[in-house]
Amino acid sequence: MLGLMQSQPLLTSSLIDFAERHHGDAEIVSRRVEGDLHRYTYADMAKRSRQVANALDKLGEGGLAFSDRVATLAWNGYRHMELYFGVGGSGRVVHTINPRLHPDQVAWIMNHAEDQVLIFDATFLPLVQKVHAQAQTVKHWILLCDADKLPADTGIPGLLSYEAWIANQSTDYEWPQFDENSAASMCYTSGTTGNPKAALYSHRSSVLHAYAASLPDVMAMSARDSVLPVVPMFHVNAWGIPYSAPLTGAKLVFPGPALDGKSVYELIESEQVTYAAGVPTVWQMMLSHMQPAQLKFSSLKRTVIGGSACPPAMIHSFQEDYGVEVLHAWGMTEMSPLGTLSTLKNKHLSLPKDEQMKVRLKQGRAIFGVDMKIVNDEGKELPWDGKTYGDLLVRGPWILAEYFKGEGGDPLQYDDKGRGWFPTGDVATIDADGFMQITDRSKDVIKSGGEWISSIDIENIAMGHPAVAMAACIGMPHPKWDERPIVVVVKKPNASVSKEELLAFYQGKTAKWQIPDDVVFVDAIPIGATGKMLKTKLREQLIDYQLPS
Ligand code: AMP
Repeated sequence: MLGLMQSQPLLTSSLIDFAERHHGDAEIVSRRVEGDLHRYTYADMAKRSRQVANALDKLGEGGLAFSDRVATLAWNGYRHMELYFGVGGSGRVVHTINPRLHPDQVAWIMNHAEDQVLIFDATFLPLVQKVHAQAQTVKHWILLCDADKLPADTGIPGLLSYEAWIANQSTDYEWPQFDENSAASMCYTSGTTGNPKAALYSHRSSVLHAYAASLPDVMAMSARDSVLPVVPMFHVNAWGIPYSAPLTGAKLVFPGPALDGKSVYELIESEQVTYAAGVPTVWQMMLSHMQPAQLKFSSLKRTVIGGSACPPAMIHSFQEDYGVEVLHAWGMTEMSPLGTLSTLKNKHLSLPKDEQMKVRLKQGRAIFGVDMKIVNDEGKELPWDGKTYGDLLVRGPWILAEYFKGEGGDPLQYDDKGRGWFPTGDVATIDADGFMQITDRSKDVIKSGGEWISSIDIENIAMGHPAVAMAACIGMPHPKWDERPIVVVVKKPNASVSKEELLAFYQGKTAKWQIPDDVVFVDAIPIGATGKMLKTKLREQLIDYQLPS
């Protein structure tokens, strides 16, 4: 017997309809490429999204087809948000491209996705000028600018201004109803090796993820929040915030291209941001701006930090110096991206602060909808004792089943019940309370004398030293031990620490055999397109390095 409740497909257009009707006056504030601060409301955004949908219906001969890809190269801002809904809501697929990728890779991705339209911010005009001749499928090029700001002689045939393109479109549009499993958006993985592969998010997965992200022990987003996603809309949909903010009616604050510490800090203050989300490198820049001037926050309450391991010193600084709660989160492109968050349970509240800190440092416990387990090389499940580490596998309704065009074959590992699990490529422990802790990417683990050393642990200790701005631990080949760790360090400006002092700093903080063999000081550690340290590149840079004998 079936239940007798109404059946409605879960479509992203319902999020913007809801926001317009119930939170129509909630604000969306954007720092623009033009340099000014733009502000309007969810009601305005909903109208302009419908204009986008109408414009797409009329694009070219007969309009853009269902499931056609519309690519974006754009910062976080209101126009990008209109595209999320106008494109996805009308049944096409928003393909957000990471502008920090190499132009050849951008062109490769556009061809692979078979993008029909590219819509981009003025910042990326030089990039588009480089790639447009290689893009074989794009028929329409649209610049996110006012009608009178379209530059002449760009060399891009038929380039349109976004504002001119939508200006005369009707603000009425009936969002089509279709299968909730249809694709809504797509994002290519960072692809540090080989060609990137695309995750194709469905309407259903995006709406379910938005519900889950809003829960109190996840992002706890509400109509009383002012939310700043520093995490880019071009990487995994800014952790789903463009969908969970309209679901909750939260005010949205978009940083545009100004991601330096000063700009982000000033935006938090001027827009009374209560809640911010970003990768550790962004917060590092902001704290470095705030510390010397002894600046404080007047509104910020919580920040979600993820994308790579959040150093304990950063959690400590946010909490103790600024009274801001840090929610350490873990996820990946293939997971929409949220998997776990480290929010305390009731039993942790009575623990001393340093014990609580140990819990907060972990990548956290699973959100309902995500099931996880750790397995050994034979695929056998390992215990949740907080010590045993293994390969981390996940499953759930917003986790990838297959890459776009079936690239790489079937990515899943099947259990004895025939259920498919996605291998994350991370190595982790899970404790008895269900808190997962990443020890490493499987390819970054250092194997020394048959034992594993977590590069993240070694980096975290170095980052706790007051003179260290950034640290990367990598394994170097060793004739006896296979590999030994070294730590590559960028010092804070005007700070000094010697190799001997830093190695002495490790004493008592980790097992003796895990202490790195050497410290290499560098001016900068290579950072990839999504703000993560590029250890592959670092290894290339240190190709001639010899361990001290
Ligand atoms: P991406 O798909 O580019 O977002 O990268 C996903 C990968 O980033 C994960 O598989 C992890 O290796 C890493 N990652 C994400 N969040 C964290 C975190 N909080 N701590 C450690 N690694 C993380």
